Amino acid sequence: MSKIAFIGLGNMGGPMAANLVKKGHTVVGFDLSDSALKALASAGGQTANSALEATKEADVVISMLPSGKHVAELYSEEFISQLKSNTLIIDSSTIDAVTARSVAELACSKGCKMIDAPVSGGTNGAKAGTLTFIVGGKQEDYEKARPILKCMGQNIFYAGNSGAGQVAKICNNMLLAIHMIGTSEAINLGTRHGLDAKVLSEIMQKSSGKNWSLEVYNPYPGVMENAPASKEYSGGFAVDLMTKDLGLAAEAGLESKTSTPLGNAALNLYRMWSEAGNGKIDFSSIIQFLNKEL
Ligand code: NAD
Repeated sequence: MSKIAFIGLGNMGGPMAANLVKKGHTVVGFDLSDSALKALASAGGQTANSALEATKEADVVISMLPSGKHVAELYSEEFISQLKSNTLIIDSSTIDAVTARSVAELACSKGCKMIDAPVSGGTNGAKAGTLTFIVGGKQEDYEKARPILKCMGQNIFYAGNSGAGQVAKICNNMLLAIHMIGTSEAINLGTRHGLDAKVLSEIMQKSSGKNWSLEVYNPYPGVMENAPASKEYSGGFAVDLMTKDLGLAAEAGLESKTSTPLGNAALNLYRMWSEAGNGKIDFSSIIQFLNKEL
C-alpha cells in the first residue's frame, strides 16, 4: 500500500481520495476549503495544513485542481525539490497540454516521475470509482500508476507522451459540451410541444440520438434522480470548468490550425451563460439558457 498525498479535494478530488482510503492506502489530503478537509477526515483520510505537509514521506502525489494556473503554482521548483526522489506525481486536473508538459519536465529534472491523467465520468463516476483515466507520459510511469488509478477508475487509457492525456481529454469535453447542448435543444423543443421529458428521453435513448448526456446526465429536472438537474444543478461539473475546457479546445484548434466551429459555438454559449451569473452551477443547466422565451 502507498502513502498518497492528495491535493484538491473538491467535487472530484474528495470522492477520489475517499476511494483510495477504502482500498487501504494511507491518504493525506490538502485543500484550501475546510469543508473539503472535513469530508476527507470523515472518510478516514488524514489532513494536512499545507500541500507540502501532505507530501511528507509520500510515494505518490495526486492533484485534482481547477486549472493550469493552479497546477503550475503547486508544482513550483521549490515544491518539487522537497519531494522524495522517484515520487510518482499524477495530475488529474484538466489543463492545457503545454503546462502539463512543462511541469512534467521540471518534475523529471528533479528526479520525480510525472504523468498527466485527466478523468472523465463526472462526480457520480468519482464517487462510484468508475472514472475513465486518460494518461500521457512515459509508458513505464503509466504502468506504475495503473494500480493506483484502478482504485478510482474502471477504464485506464494510455494516450501517448506527456500532454497527450490532456489533448484527448479536451477533445472529449468539446464533444461532451456539443452533445449536452444538442440534447438540451432537443428536449426543450419536445417539451415545448407538450411532450413529457422522461418519455422523450427514453425514445431518443433507444433511437439514433442516444448519447451520454441522455443516458446518464439528463439536463431536464426530475428525469434522472441522481443527475445534477434533479438537485438544482448542484454538485456536478461547473459551467466555469466547462467554459475553461472549451477555451482549451479553442486554443488547441488555433495552435494546430484546426476548425472547430461547433466547439467555438459551444464556448460562446457557455461563456454567455457563465456571464449571466451561472458559473458555479452544473453545465447541464445550459438547458435553462435555451429555454428562455425567444
Ligand atoms: P472543484 O472546484 O470542486 O475542486 C477543486 C478544489 O481545488 C477545490 O476544493 C479548491 O478549494 C481546491 N484548490 C484550489 N486551489 C488549491 C490549492 N492551491 N491547494 C489546494 N487545494 C486547492 O472542481 P472539480 O469539479 O473537483 O474539478 C477539478 C478538476 O477536475 C478540474 O480541472 C475539472 O476540469 C476536472 N474535472 C471535473 C469533472 C466534474 O464533473 N466536476 C469531471 C472531469 C474532470
